[in-house]
Amino acid sequence: MTRVTVDPGRCTAYGICVGIHPEVFAVPPGSPVAVVTLDVLSEDDLEDVQEAVRACPAQALRLIEG
Ligand code: SF4
Repeated sequence: MTRVTVDPGRCTAYGICVGIHPEVFAVPPGSPVAVVTLDVLSEDDLEDVQEAVRACPAQALRLIEG
């Protein structure tokens, strides 16, 4: 089981992750940070989420296994 987390101390709400996978990430109106809207990632989600982890300019995304 794989999950992804956003470090609120790093995230700058640029929304690049939302652009890559809008079903997993969101920046709610008024929120200073992105949130994860899907707790458990499917195999299909994982590829895009890995891309988002690499693309995040703040290195705020982290994959957690198990
Ligand atoms: S790409 Fe990174 S910095 Fe930008 S909203 Fe997503 S988690 Fe935050």
